[in-house]
Amino acid sequence: MDGTAMDARTRSVTVALEQREGRQGREGGAQHTLRFDDLSVTFQSGEGTARVVDRATLEVRQGELIGIVGETGCGKSVLMRALLDLLPRPAARVAGRIEFDGTDLLRLTPRERRRLTLRYFNMVFQDPVGSLNPFFTIGNQMREVLTQAGRRNGQRLSRARIQQRAVELLRTVRLDDPERVLRSYSFQLSGGMNQRVSIALALSVDPWLIVADEPTTALDVTVQAEILSLFDALVREQGRSVLLITHSLGVVRQVADRVAVMYAGVVVEEASTPDLFASPLHPYTVGLLACVPRLTGQAVAKGIPGTLPDYTAPPTACRFHPRCPHAMPICRETRPPAIAVGDGGHRVACWLYGDERARAEATV
Ligand code: SF4
Repeated sequence: MDGTAMDARTRSVTVALEQREGRQGREGGAQHTLRFDDLSVTFQSGEGTARVVDRATLEVRQGELIGIVGETGCGKSVLMRALLDLLPRPAARVAGRIEFDGTDLLRLTPRERRRLTLRYFNMVFQDPVGSLNPFFTIGNQMREVLTQAGRRNGQRLSRARIQQRAVELLRTVRLDDPERVLRSYSFQLSGGMNQRVSIALALSVDPWLIVADEPTTALDVTVQAEILSLFDALVREQGRSVLLITHSLGVVRQVADRVAVMYAGVVVEEASTPDLFASPLHPYTVGLLACVPRLTGQAVAKGIPGTLPDYTAPPTACRFHPRCPHAMPICRETRPPAIAVGDGGHRVACWLYGDERARAEATV
């Protein structure tokens, strides 16, 4: 397909998506689905090629809060940056598919991709103070974002309407005295207030999906609980979808509907939150849960021996095998497929489960 034909095709799918959105919106609530399909992200550096996300598959449905957990450096933030087109070019290469309602974002032109991303997705970062501009008041920053969002939707909003919308958004994120907050600079607010402002800014474009990257890590424990409850309300009361990236199992347990566990760039297990905590299957997930300190019984938590691998020379087949207490010869020879265990959407990529192992051993 030549470039002109590709442009025409991508324009038509984007328009179709927006027409569908408009139709469903009028009929009462657009339903969307986002799917990462066999997604890989590779970085080229002087030390070689590092595949930091390796054939990740994950689905996000309407009105779901999905937690992505794993150690720092396991690829969860890179996966989200691939979605939002925030990876450095040309060092990062993305392969596979990111489908939004069947449209593959990776096959859109940069312009169409940007348009879809700005319309449907937004991100909340870990460091709320760093993500706000200290030279402008919160009001200036919100007015700018609301004005731009209005222009993209073909609307010229009056100053009074923008001010009213900014106040509404700050009330949505449960900030008292929003007029005072709008007159303030980020350094005059607490960490929790700044994070609420960041969430309000993310909401100002009315996104379908909010990607929250470690949004509570920099906050006090009591403020963490309030921010998590806010994300929960955005899903339950507004029907938005949230992808919550965190290294904390405690955080996902509080609010997530489903959890995806990542290890060394691979989604090794995915399940509903109650299922994952009641019946973890993958040895890495079991190890992660054993790392959580308890107040009773064995107070000192066990760790997982070893460290994340060097991504330029990762272990063969199952990337967890050098650290796994159950490793078998097949684990070093053939990558385990993700298999469904039960009928509740629990999937695990490990040779300990299913009858795939016998089939694979027969062909090794
Ligand atoms: Fe361990 Fe093998 Fe399962 Fe990998 S596939 S987690 S090495 S048992």
